[in-house]
Amino acid sequence: MYDCIVVGSGLAGSSLATVLSRQGWHVLLLERRHLPQHKVCGEFLSPEAQAILGGLGLYDTVAHLHPATMDMARLTTPAGLHLHVQLPGQAWGVSRFALDAALLAAAAEAGATVRTGITVTGTTPTSSGHIVAARCGQDQLTFTARAVVVACGRNPVPALRPVPDAPRPTIAQTHIGVKCHYTNLAMPPQVELYLFPGGYVGLSPVEDGRANLCLLTTHAAFTAAGASAEAMLAAVCHWNQALARRLQEGTFLPDTQVTVASVDLKQRAVPWNGVARVGDAVTMIPPLCGDGMAMALRSAQLCAPLAHDFLRGACSLAGWEERYRQQWHRTFDPAMRVGRMLQAALIQPGVHDMLLLLGNILPPLARTAVHTTRATR
Ligand SMILES: Cc1cc2nc3c(=O)[nH]c(=O)nc-3n(C[C@H](O)[C@H](O)[C@H](O)COP(=O)(O)OP(=O)(O)OC[C@H]3O[C@@H](n4cnc5c(N)ncnc54)[C@H](O)[C@@H]3O)c2cc1C
Repeated sequence: MYDCIVVGSGLAGSSLATVLSRQGWHVLLLERRHLPQHKVCGEFLSPEAQAILGGLGLYDTVAHLHPATMDMARLTTPAGLHLHVQLPGQAWGVSRFALDAALLAAAAEAGATVRTGITVTGTTPTSSGHIVAARCGQDQLTFTARAVVVACGRNPVPALRPVPDAPRPTIAQTHIGVKCHYTNLAMPPQVELYLFPGGYVGLSPVEDGRANLCLLTTHAAFTAAGASAEAMLAAVCHWNQALARRLQEGTFLPDTQVTVASVDLKQRAVPWNGVARVGDAVTMIPPLCGDGMAMALRSAQLCAPLAHDFLRGACSLAGWEERYRQQWHRTFDPAMRVGRMLQAALIQPGVHDMLLLLGNILPPLARTAVHTTRATR
């Protein structure tokens, strides 16, 4: 029997597995994919993430990937309005291809048993802990552990959803994300956000001189554009000519392109449902704020000492649940509220021009808006 099974090896899962393994616990980390692989993400690691990585003992792991650096954000509307906002510190640009693999390797190095290509299908409580059911190809597997932490991000299997029987949003209420890399684009140390009706495109430098392009849009805008990543990007370039001009210099790298559908930005936050949940498995953090990865790391940082206390018998399961729920809501609720409002406003035509004008007249307002979306500051 393991002390703890962690489901999913994104930032939240791998970092939690690393911390618990370093404390001497017998940890199993289960991941459905084989890494490295590309993932839909803007790959903008906010300034706040570095302190959290330090607290988790993972700063060097990420610094060794030679992330690109950024200290400004530049927003551009289809009408050509710009807003420059100073970031609250230096952000990093690092591909999920490299980052997720490095964090998984750190967990293994810390002593966790890591198994990839295994999809967890459910967990059942027992008198001594949990039975975790999983699938590996055609094989059905079971594992047992005293504790389980779900870190499986968005869109997990039904049994791992925050509230399995809650009504799911209709497809029209969801968003679609696309990411790809470019080479040969001159990238100043800034993240560039190009707004369009129904979404935005982020362009930011990552390691090895590449640029990450990441697009998030409503299902309606994606369908109206032609229902493919290529058609959507062509439509965005038509709306926002500044992006079209920007991309002309670059070379698109087709093998880096990935798309994700059914992104639910309104899901209720559920930090505990039978077992602890960390990262996006709690709720989807508004991507435009570029803080989802820091928040995934921060939730693992909140959960780790409580899991440790439970495993060493210093608190009950109910005590772990109560303290984690309280800490999660206290830490993330205010930033989630502002982030969701800001994301919804910035993709509305007319509203984004007004907000950018306001930000140009009152630069401290723009900085405050960025600041209040940070749960991890
Ligand atoms: C379009 C878009 C752009 C974004 N841009 C940014 C950005 O620029 N900066 C930022 O900070 N955040 C960004 N985010 C948010 C960020 O990607 C997430 O907040 C972050 O990845 C959450 O990390 P996580 O570890 O919780 O989940 P994930 O990174 O999703 O990891 C979950 C892992 O669990 C695995 N898994 C899932 N189900 C199972 C299962 N049943 N069994 C086993 N394994 C399973 C998955 O394969 C995956 O590896 C963006 C999100 C989107 C959609």
